[in-house]
Amino acid sequence: MRKRLTALACLAACLTLAACDPRLRRPDVDRHEVRGLESEVGEESLRRFLEHQARVADASHRLRVAGAELCDGEVAPLLGVVAWRRVDMPSRQLKNLARDVWHLTTDYRVMHVVPGSPAHRAGVVAGDQLLRVNGTRLGAQNALEPTLRGIDDDVLVVEVKREKRDEIRIPAESGCRHGAVLSASNRLVTAGTADDYVIVTMGLIRMTRSDADLAQVIAHQMGHQMQATVERPPPGPGTLLATEALVRADEIEADRLGLFLMARAGYPLDGADDMLERIAIEEPWMLFEVATRPEVTAWPAHGFVPARIVAMDRHLDEIAEKRANADPVTPD
Ligand SMILES: [Zn+2]
Repeated sequence: MRKRLTALACLAACLTLAACDPRLRRPDVDRHEVRGLESEVGEESLRRFLEHQARVADASHRLRVAGAELCDGEVAPLLGVVAWRRVDMPSRQLKNLARDVWHLTTDYRVMHVVPGSPAHRAGVVAGDQLLRVNGTRLGAQNALEPTLRGIDDDVLVVEVKREKRDEIRIPAESGCRHGAVLSASNRLVTAGTADDYVIVTMGLIRMTRSDADLAQVIAHQMGHQMQATVERPPPGPGTLLATEALVRADEIEADRLGLFLMARAGYPLDGADDMLERIAIEEPWMLFEVATRPEVTAWPAHGFVPARIVAMDRHLDEIAEKRANADPVTPD
């Protein structure tokens, strides 16, 4: 009886205490301190995103210039900057941060200048506002890259605003037309192409250990774009094997062309197989490639990694032979 009473008393006490359970209490934190931390971490996050995009732009620029001859007329004048409007930030959070921290608007602000690029040589610096290129007003309606792609001129006339308006004449340098941009996605499915851009995911950036790793991913995607479009039978019974064979051949060829681009741009090639292997360890479905997977239809797959690694030796031999014979490093 006494035991039961004790138990009941305990239960009552527990129920009463539950009302003021410390876990249910509102946490008492200093709002200003929280705000401060929000902007501090947010600012760092923005800075990091820009740092990644700058790496992507540097690698992409180098490959585009080195590959200009191989892009089969699909070239555009390159400026060599990362310039952003607020709308160019890839997520709502980054858009808000960019507004609050950098005060980005609908105008283009130069955030990074690719070393050695036409913009660099002409003295464009981070912070410059880009107003017009060859007469076209840049801004909400006219994006920078498509505007550049539409220019068929030896000189880029860029109106910039620093302290005052100024016009900079920049001798155009041609490069493959597909520039690379960073996506906020954490997916690791390497790179894809959308709206004429090579898209590199943050997930992939985190996988890269060197600039050559990053260049390899961009170059592989450029390799896909350089290939003639292959008509593929729609997936279905009997066609799956044929489709897979075509996709596998495409992947091997994209690696080959990518390695040629890297070689021409002066990147080391010796870590290429290791990079592929590391990606496949993280994403083991890439060992096989499955044309029917829904995520594969939405994103380029880049599977068949073992076959690609085996084929890589052949590509490297081909490049080494051209170099040994002092032939141009151009795929036959
Ligand atoms: Zn691929």
